[in-house]
Amino acid sequence: MGVPLAEITFISDYRVYLSRRCAHRCGYCNFQQTPANLPPSRKAVRALLHTAGRIGAHQITLTSGEGIDQWDEISSACRYMGYRGWYDYVHAMARFVLQQRGHHLFFPSLDVGAMPWHELRKMRDAVANVRMMLHSIDNNLQTEIAHRDAPHKCLERRLAALEEMASVGIPMVTGIQVGIGESEETWGQTARIVSDIHRRHGSIQNFVVSPFEPQPYSLMAAYPPVSAEVFLRAVRTVRDNLHSSILLSPEIGRSIELLPDLDQMGISDIGSVTLGNSEHLDLDIRSAIHHIMIDPSGVDLKQRMALCEDFIARRALPEDLTNNIQRFSRFMEQTRGLDHQRPTDSQTGLGGNDARASNHDTVA
Ligand code: SF4
Repeated sequence: MGVPLAEITFISDYRVYLSRRCAHRCGYCNFQQTPANLPPSRKAVRALLHTAGRIGAHQITLTSGEGIDQWDEISSACRYMGYRGWYDYVHAMARFVLQQRGHHLFFPSLDVGAMPWHELRKMRDAVANVRMMLHSIDNNLQTEIAHRDAPHKCLERRLAALEEMASVGIPMVTGIQVGIGESEETWGQTARIVSDIHRRHGSIQNFVVSPFEPQPYSLMAAYPPVSAEVFLRAVRTVRDNLHSSILLSPEIGRSIELLPDLDQMGISDIGSVTLGNSEHLDLDIRSAIHHIMIDPSGVDLKQRMALCEDFIARRALPEDLTNNIQRFSRFMEQTRGLDHQRPTDSQTGLGGNDARASNHDTVA
């Protein structure tokens, strides 16, 4: 008998840009320096979901910059489409994603930055998880290129926002980016602080460790990417300081060659793998992942849901989410890799090819 393959899980993700506008300018992000269309209509989102489904994505991350909810152009665009404002629009888009029927099956993840408690509470019936990265809690970065124009990323404000959001009880994804000029001490410190928040609220699902890769047009476009050695050191440090019930997810993206190193460290998840977004598809990473899945050598790469089993077991979930969890489980029994056959209605237990109607059917 051969040595059993190590199993590493991931989420197949597709990002829908609700807006690239942002009130801040982090050095490693290019949202402020790239064209920002107005929020897409339901019809436009439907077309994006069709693409997402065809490439095998199951998590739809609805993303935007931060602090734009009161901007006139955003509020006006949302009202024009029939929504009360930005958060009403975001909620409607998340419900729309969750309620897709037919052979596409999606879990909405929200990545729109810090949100007021009462607005996040309203999202509980619409999202599988909420993502709010800390990036770094190193306050020295407030005078460096990474966070010089991002006062909301100082330790005190970011942690207060995370604590408030964690208290709502939606599974949360947070974490750090490695290689943006932060002190190495802050890696373990962040893991301990997040673990404390988790002890109080029980809602931190994943801690992401993400490697810095320079983004075109960002302020740090000419900076070198973080080395594999430094990145793996950060993963090890976080692993040694993180609460055992938080899933550690080094999001290696295109750096698939790191899988054996991560496996040796006992890492069992690599979080979200983005197969595409509103603007382009990453067919190379899709192809690489697909081939490992159908022909595993060294690691057995498996898709997982946007919610961990632990959260599913101990939370009262909205009906639509429960339906999708059941459908996903059946779906995974039938397939391997990212290309899957279309299950029949009797296999999914649910019929129909169209999304359900919503209050905004006639508007967008
Ligand atoms: S707050 Fe988020 S979207 Fe805005 S610049 Fe920073 S990383 Fe980019």
